[in-house]
Amino acid sequence: MTMDSSRPVRTRYAPSPTGPQHIGGIRSALFAWLYARRHGGKFILRIEDTDQKRSVPGSVEMIVDAFDWLGINIDEGPRQGGSYGPYVQSQRLELYQSWARWLVANGHAYKCFASADELAEMRAAGTGYDRRYRDLPPRDAATLEAQGKPYVIRFKMPRSGETAGEDIIRGRVRFQNANLQDAVLLKSDGFPTYHLAHIVDDYHMEISHITRAVEWLPSFPLHLRIWDAFGWEKPQFAHLPVLLNPNGKGKLSKRKAQFVDPSGTSVPVLINEFIEAGYLPEAVLNFLTNIGWNYGDNEEVFSTEQAIARFDLKAVNPANSAYPIKKLDWLNSQKIQAATPDYLAGRLRPILKAAGYAVDESILQQVTPLLQVRLKNLHDVLPMAGFFFADWAAFKAPAAEILVQRKMDAAATVKVLGAAIPILERLPGFEAASLHEALAAYAKASGFKNGQVFGSLRAAVSGQKVSPPTFETMEILGKAESLRRIRLALEGLRQQEAG
Ligand code: GLU
Repeated sequence: MTMDSSRPVRTRYAPSPTGPQHIGGIRSALFAWLYARRHGGKFILRIEDTDQKRSVPGSVEMIVDAFDWLGINIDEGPRQGGSYGPYVQSQRLELYQSWARWLVANGHAYKCFASADELAEMRAAGTGYDRRYRDLPPRDAATLEAQGKPYVIRFKMPRSGETAGEDIIRGRVRFQNANLQDAVLLKSDGFPTYHLAHIVDDYHMEISHITRAVEWLPSFPLHLRIWDAFGWEKPQFAHLPVLLNPNGKGKLSKRKAQFVDPSGTSVPVLINEFIEAGYLPEAVLNFLTNIGWNYGDNEEVFSTEQAIARFDLKAVNPANSAYPIKKLDWLNSQKIQAATPDYLAGRLRPILKAAGYAVDESILQQVTPLLQVRLKNLHDVLPMAGFFFADWAAFKAPAAEILVQRKMDAAATVKVLGAAIPILERLPGFEAASLHEALAAYAKASGFKNGQVFGSLRAAVSGQKVSPPTFETMEILGKAESLRRIRLALEGLRQQEAG
């Protein structure tokens, strides 16, 4: 039986807490979330920590923080709570144990007493587990158990025939049972395996759609059989395509903090690397939504709300996709341009602070709109506009190689800066437009090009070759500070000339 589609939509992301999340996992979570939001359903976070050896402390916080950052809101989970909890598998062990016992009692599973040596022999023979305890008479099993022999509980897979199931993305998929093993459901330490635990949880948490990586497809027949053994109404399944390396070859590296592709480019793969690299969360969301699904209308840039309005698991492309990381920088600049200045200021503030600047709010408000078309990356704010937030009193005369523009020399620069001072002093106001007008008039009269005059001033007031536009920069610095800096530059150049 498959779940009737009128049931409320409840999707889940079920990561193992092994540290910062891989971008592939985040993409699976995103698709589950988009689907829940599209259908007014719930999105659940469940922590699958039954493999205690692989669990990394602090992972849950990392995962929840990453979702907060991305704007993927969780309806039920370890931090949010909910009426289907607990949402951490290690807190649900008794539930799995009782259902494992139920499967044994009902003839769908059995206790397997194979020792480590026996298993090693079978492995060496290359046969896999040969089901030697499957048909052990119950009395013999009871004797072994009474002797204290450790055992696992294994599922009884049919030995012949086929198992078939529906996948939303892939249609009907079929598997030959002869190729399948009697998988372990409960380990000898009483911990369930993934196969048992996730099904018990997906049932009890009333999950309507299971979305997970296609790597799980080979286990799909086992899962279908377990659902049937319990006699539970099955959810719908979507085995999502995975991300391949940027060159299209092989699965995207999982654990390495940075995958280096053959061209030597470092590629972020862990969610915290995207945060640290200065991407906007909406750029990362847009980027991930485009992998394996497309918005349509040839649109590559869209908001999360727009994606929610159209998202459909049925439209996911079953083919694995090369990781289109090059698109991310472009998307990021698009999102930076489209952001409101207030929002962008909120993203830039912590970066400036972390770099040690004392952030003056009024300057931040004035500078941010100038940066929107200039930043590819949030961190570009530091080389581009950090000087606004530095200690102005400590500003030093820029070096000649910064000050002297192309096709100019120190003498010409001295001339331009020297001429600019009285022009600026005479101006009644100090707005960018009037600065522009006055200095363009000077350029015309003197025979210098606009670029030479404006560039010399830019270098003098910012100490940089690249900055926000010269006159807006001067307006923000104000008349007194701009003049002070131009005089400093002038003095510096004269001294150099004299020396
Ligand atoms: N804990 C499993 C994993 O991390 C979950 C797979 C699933 O979504 O069912 O791959």
